[in-house]
Amino acid sequence: MPHFAEIILPLALPKRTYTFSIPGDLVADVRPGVRVEVQFGKAKLYAGLVETVHQNQPDYKTKNIISLLDEVEVVSPQQLKLWDWMADYYCSTLGEVMLAALPGHLKLTSETSLVLNPLFDDAGDIHLENDEYLIAEALRIQKEISIEDARKILEKKSIFPVVQSLLNKGVLFVREELQEKYKPKKVSAVRLAEPYRSNETLLSEGFNLLEKNERQAEAMMAFLQLARNQAFVKKSEVLAAAKVSDSVLKSLEKKGLLEIYEREVSRISDYKNDLDVSPELTAQQQKALLEIRQIFLEKDTVLLHGVTGSGKTQVYVELIRETIAAGGQALYLLPEIALTTQIISRLQKIFGNDVSVYHSKINYDERVELWQSAAAGKPVLLGARSSIFLPFQNLKLIIVDEEHDPSFKQFDPAPRYNARDSAVFLANIYGAKTLLGTATPSVESWQNTLLKKYGLVSMPERFGGLQMPEIQTVNLTDAHKKRAMQSIFTTQLIEELQATLARGEQAILFQNRRGYSPILECEICSQSTNCKNCDVSLTYHKQSDSMRCHYCNYRIEVPKICPACGSGKMVLRGFGTEKIEDEIKIFLPTAKIGRLDFDTASTKTKLTDILNDFEERKIDILVGTQMVTKGLDFDNVAVVGVLGADSLVKFPDFRSGERAFQMLTQVAGRAGRKQKQGKVIIQAWNPSHPVLQEVFRADFQGFMSRELNERKLFHYPPFYRLVGLQVKHKNENTAKQAADFLAKWLRERLGNRVLGPSQPGISRVRGYFLQDILVKFEKSASVLANGKRLILQHVEHLKSQANFRQVVISVDVDPV
Ligand code: ADP
Ligand code: ZN
Ligand code: ZN
Repeated sequence: MPHFAEIILPLALPKRTYTFSIPGDLVADVRPGVRVEVQFGKAKLYAGLVETVHQNQPDYKTKNIISLLDEVEVVSPQQLKLWDWMADYYCSTLGEVMLAALPGHLKLTSETSLVLNPLFDDAGDIHLENDEYLIAEALRIQKEISIEDARKILEKKSIFPVVQSLLNKGVLFVREELQEKYKPKKVSAVRLAEPYRSNETLLSEGFNLLEKNERQAEAMMAFLQLARNQAFVKKSEVLAAAKVSDSVLKSLEKKGLLEIYEREVSRISDYKNDLDVSPELTAQQQKALLEIRQIFLEKDTVLLHGVTGSGKTQVYVELIRETIAAGGQALYLLPEIALTTQIISRLQKIFGNDVSVYHSKINYDERVELWQSAAAGKPVLLGARSSIFLPFQNLKLIIVDEEHDPSFKQFDPAPRYNARDSAVFLANIYGAKTLLGTATPSVESWQNTLLKKYGLVSMPERFGGLQMPEIQTVNLTDAHKKRAMQSIFTTQLIEELQATLARGEQAILFQNRRGYSPILECEICSQSTNCKNCDVSLTYHKQSDSMRCHYCNYRIEVPKICPACGSGKMVLRGFGTEKIEDEIKIFLPTAKIGRLDFDTASTKTKLTDILNDFEERKIDILVGTQMVTKGLDFDNVAVVGVLGADSLVKFPDFRSGERAFQMLTQVAGRAGRKQKQGKVIIQAWNPSHPVLQEVFRADFQGFMSRELNERKLFHYPPFYRLVGLQVKHKNENTAKQAADFLAKWLRERLGNRVLGPSQPGISRVRGYFLQDILVKFEKSASVLANGKRLILQHVEHLKSQANFRQVVISVDVDPV
């Protein structure tokens, strides 16, 4: 009997799998979960994944599998189950899911680029076969070759096994995105100056130098106290412990008692010797933990609604501990790994080397190692959305931290999955439990608690009896009338910032727009400077003195005269983080200002440095985009200012109210997290907007019930399910025609569930004209499943028409 294998190919192909025949000598070894080398299309080679093996001869001639790449399975049946569900639910193909799920070293094609491992030197004791040696030599000369080049060098039909063996031996890498260079991280530290460092007995004399300066004495005492138990003392620790400002330490340095120096600390530390003892749980945390355990007996998913600073992390930690003790694995999902270095180091301090962190920026070696360690049962895995694809061995708990965060949703390319929702399905596959945690639950998750699908546990109090921040809204219309404005700041905000800095405390200013000004326009004819590829105005960036498109990176010099009417009166309108940074310096000339946005934090290293500088108090005021709203825990932030609150609530999208409420509540939560009540100042033209009022009153219930009512009334999630279709083409008419056809066909079968096509607010991006179709499905699994199938059929049908072949159509299930 001939044998066949169903193989998933790493391509966006319409069929789920493709059938290949298994040659006799491989029959014993080809089985689900291993990769094989196959030829597909003209002469392209791929590492395909075996899904099933069978003996049903298809009615066409099948190609043979060329070779076997793995001795042991690299993908488990549970993973395949997730892939299958995801492809089906999110209207993508299994190949696309495979591309998203597998790390680079498991995705080989003819085009894959190979590079030599810089650490490899052949004087070592790695034995290379002849073929392997030839490839290594070629790489030494050419630095980078494709697998196809390698095949030509060896003049062989089968090449993947040689490549795989070289990968396994660590001789070469698969080249992925360029990796960041390692840069040591530095902190300001404090130590005794000489001669006291060598001879502490002299210190009592040293103290005489302080005379009666209490603040200096306090700082000294705090330093000595810290130094007793630590290898080194950070400057920020002394400042926090003694509650003094920088200048006190400077005086001590002048008097020759202390020395401030820069110290390198490792970025990826080995925490074996530096483990934290867990603090005792508060009554609120204990209660939450008991409730969660109780609910987990009968439900699989719990939403933990705990206000900012309520101490949710410690609850997660306890649950993870219990999971590990019972021999299970825990997955801790975070929205954006780069912004959460604090959480990562907290967990590493608690779980030491039991934790691994998985994200797209880790280097090749770490990724291979991590993938293997997950399969070997690593107890705690922490990562952004793609970590749901790890090969878990015994997954028992998933924590989704900041479950409301839209970045859990993958936008492009397909599969357009939501990692939070996929996590719930993943947990189901393994018989694991899921805990969703946030201070600002998503409308979907909240509704699930109302429907009793998810359990609900609340933590309404902040840790340590801290008060919630005091929120004030300032009416910009009034302030302008009363001339109580200083540039873009209200006098009230400026005064608050001055007082904050005088007390040695820090502040955050939030504006959800980067660059200097979003609009440069002609004063005479009002023509704005737009992108040539997109339907948006170019943003002025002062640092690079250029006009830039935030959608396609198109960039031009700043026009001095209006291209439309020739006038020389060009004016900037509106403001972004760059301008805030610039202007605030005028009013607070001595303040140290830092900026956190996509431009300043383009790499993880830069981002970490900014956050460290803020923590170390090298920055007094941190200006930033929504990056500053996420999960940062700084204990010295007294004031948070929000500059453009109106634009958040006015955004034309059914989710804008939800997003605005979440962002503003989250950024407000950065204020006054430790010693005392913080203050939040929201500047708005229309502070009476219901969402701003709800934020102002910290009225989550009010917000949620109003939002749910509106969603119900206008047929939006969570009462209806949305599937969005986007039709793109370089020609405006073709895009419109294609969208018209598609909408018409869909309407014939799905009736008035189909809305559109309509031109989105930004109607052209990167040279493509866009048309949107939105389909609203009532909540019924069968209606949704049929509807999605119909949509895919019609998309295929449209694309098979000669004039629409180049039309790009993306399907987005549950858009966020
Ligand atoms: P959330 O994530 O709910 O906003 P965190 O978990 O960050 O809150 O906790 C807020 C602060 O309170 C943190 O600085 C944390 O170290 C501290 N904290 C929380 N629980 C405890 C505890 N049981 N003992 C000591 N400190 C705690
Ligand atoms: Zn553009
Ligand atoms: Zn003009």
